[in-house]
Amino acid sequence: MASKNYDVIIIGGGPAGSTAATLLAKKGHSVALLEKAKFPREHVGESLLPFCYPIFKKLGVLQELTRRYVRKPGVRFVDVDGSSFTTWCFGHVLKDPSHLSFHVRRGEFDHLLLDNAKKCGATVKEETKVTSVDLSDDEGVTVTATGPRGGKQTLRGRFLLDASGRDTFLATRLRWKKPHDEFDRSALSTHWTGAQYVDGIQEGLLQIVYLGGEKKGWIWCIPVGVDRVSVGLVLNHSYIKKQKAKLAKKKTRDWKRALYTQELTSSPFMKKILKDAKIAQPLMFNGDYSYSVAPENKCGSNFALVGDASAFIDPIFASGVYLSMKTAELVSSAVSKKLKLSDKAGQKALDAAYAKVNGAYALVDKAIRMFYNPVAVNFAQVGSAESLIHEQHENALAIGHYLLAGDFFQRHEEYSKFIDLLQNPKLLKKYKAFVIDRPDFQSASCGISRVKVFHQLLQEHGEALRGKTSA
Ligand SMILES: Cc1cc2nc3c(=O)[nH]c(=O)nc-3n(C[C@H](O)[C@H](O)[C@H](O)COP(=O)(O)OP(=O)(O)OC[C@H]3O[C@@H](n4cnc5c(N)ncnc54)[C@H](O)[C@@H]3O)c2cc1C
Repeated sequence: MASKNYDVIIIGGGPAGSTAATLLAKKGHSVALLEKAKFPREHVGESLLPFCYPIFKKLGVLQELTRRYVRKPGVRFVDVDGSSFTTWCFGHVLKDPSHLSFHVRRGEFDHLLLDNAKKCGATVKEETKVTSVDLSDDEGVTVTATGPRGGKQTLRGRFLLDASGRDTFLATRLRWKKPHDEFDRSALSTHWTGAQYVDGIQEGLLQIVYLGGEKKGWIWCIPVGVDRVSVGLVLNHSYIKKQKAKLAKKKTRDWKRALYTQELTSSPFMKKILKDAKIAQPLMFNGDYSYSVAPENKCGSNFALVGDASAFIDPIFASGVYLSMKTAELVSSAVSKKLKLSDKAGQKALDAAYAKVNGAYALVDKAIRMFYNPVAVNFAQVGSAESLIHEQHENALAIGHYLLAGDFFQRHEEYSKFIDLLQNPKLLKKYKAFVIDRPDFQSASCGISRVKVFHQLLQEHGEALRGKTSA
């Protein structure tokens, strides 16, 4: 079969793949993006970071996102019973419109990004699964895929971007994928309707309920619509195994659903939120979710790995989509230099891009370890310290907010040192004491109205309700 030639072939049409495809096509490169699924397809990862904002602008989708999605002014870390919490509002440090981020329905959001790549000139082939890749020729790559009706397709490209997500196309085949033993956790999640929109949910806050103890887990609660919350449960594997055995003894048929319900109702906070709520879609399971590929394997002379195809870290800080899109932006810019200028210029640009990318992932990794470290700062209680005694408290507070907003790439070295300080017990004690006493930080609210958060979604919801009543 005759093969088609492209500048760049991309495996996967998630946020990483479609970002790279759009930006490369906008620079005039011929791009083929191969996606095995038919979009829209469901996906976890609905709460986005403010630092995505400039990328959305560059892609040309910002306006559409502001029209469609719930706005996210910050994050609230909550103890299991809801009595102790800290609200981190992006508006404390971000003074432009990006302080209102987004909660998205991923099926739709990914579809929008993929369609945008098409509009910008990329050739997008859905229901086309890449089955093999030949990287042995330095001049380019040969990619073989199976199309919608099972037909085999062969494509030639000067460069390959693997954006295959957690399928980790290259890393699995080349045995580059290393599990992250410390973050040995799995997640169960679904959407609910009829939840109570209280305790910050009505103002769009992402809620992270810390479970602690042997569960080493947490619950996320994300308002993805006017009457739709996404609730996910994350637990350590050893705990899941024990609970699964217990449920099997009781002859429980659907252990995943039983475990999900059991853990949600064990949190008085979640019990209150979901008192009258009903599950609205099938339960999703995401297992073994943290892994990485060594920096030296992330790119070569004719390929590069972006997004979850190169690494995935525990999603506690809702960082995955931003890390993936920013990596795709940096790497596609370097690839463009390689194709337009020279191999040497391209390699230099790729090395510079991956220095930032690896620094960003290492920073997020460190911040997450701190989250799970029982003697380090507890994000739910950090706001409960009594007095303010540190002259640098403004900076320390700002760093916390910037980290939660996604400032991973530019200042990773600086922030990494700050996290080291926080893990020193003496300094941690000081930090706990000085971090509070600012009226805007003590406040439970980010001061964003329900109308601003749900904007025209409220109207759409109202119309839908009227429709139901009159039916
Ligand atoms: C439990 C959980 C909760 C999360 N919560 C958040 C959150 O709140 N916020 C956040 O930002 N991130 C979150 N994430 C992370 C986020 O989902 C990912 O980081 C993000 O989707 C990565 O984008 P990607 O484009 O790299 O991969 P994906 O979005 O997974 O896209 C990869 C695409 O490649 C396609 N593909 C795979 N193999 C092939 C093949 N052989 N041929 C063709 N196509 C192929 C797949 O069909 C898929 O569409 C969460 C992740 C998990 C597991």
